[in-house]
Amino acid sequence: MNKALRPAVIAGNWKMNNTRPQTRELLEALKPLVAGAGCQVVVCTPFTDLEAALALTAGTNLHVGAQNCHWAASGAFTGEISAPMLAELGVEYVVLGHSERRQYFGETDATVNRRLRAALDAGLRPILCVGETLDQREAGITGEVVAMQVKAALCGVTAEELGRMIVAYEPVWAIGTGRTATAGQAGEVCGLIRQVAAGLYGQAAADALPIQYGGSMNAKNAAELLAQPDVDGGLIGGASLKAADFAAIVEAASK
Ligand code: PEP
Repeated sequence: MNKALRPAVIAGNWKMNNTRPQTRELLEALKPLVAGAGCQVVVCTPFTDLEAALALTAGTNLHVGAQNCHWAASGAFTGEISAPMLAELGVEYVVLGHSERRQYFGETDATVNRRLRAALDAGLRPILCVGETLDQREAGITGEVVAMQVKAALCGVTAEELGRMIVAYEPVWAIGTGRTATAGQAGEVCGLIRQVAAGLYGQAAADALPIQYGGSMNAKNAAELLAQPDVDGGLIGGASLKAADFAAIVEAASK
């Protein structure tokens, strides 16, 4: 499938940043800058900012996502937020399996799969994050690691459900480090993820799957990364916290 037929998706991962007043300030600045975007634009905010973000973006082309959800619909899981709770708020997207969750909060391929299933069941659009560490890249096992993460996360996911998903390739060594994968490295692994999806669901389903690159993407390097045939957008951390920088990436994806 021609890349132009897949929706490009630029998603901001605000991580644990922005109070409600800061959310208002950032979104008010962003709205006019991305109003004419030729791609999907998503902001993934902390849980406490979701309601404000939804109100501030109502009627605009900005979509709102969360950064995690639990696998159970409700119950004795102190501190957690469920997928139906997010859906009920009006949240559309949810980031799952981010490397910071895997690194600091004991997230495993198995828990990512359970959260993914819950998100799909609640009607959310998951942004599934996968990516290798520097040690794994240097050991030459990037392909195996990423393929395993994708396959494990997608256990029990149907082809129809894949149609609601986005996969983000985020090499751990490039996240928040200022060290970006080369366009060739990003394109190669995104292509491999598409091959894995094709092996599981067939070529047509894989061709329709948006695959993002994430890892120190910014206004300067976005165009080159997004020009890769299998890179359909970006998951943006640091640069999503400044309206002008994020809008420049959106513009690069709109061409
Ligand atoms: C991320 O958190 O998903 C990310 C890609 O961060 P950064 O852009 O800051 O590297």
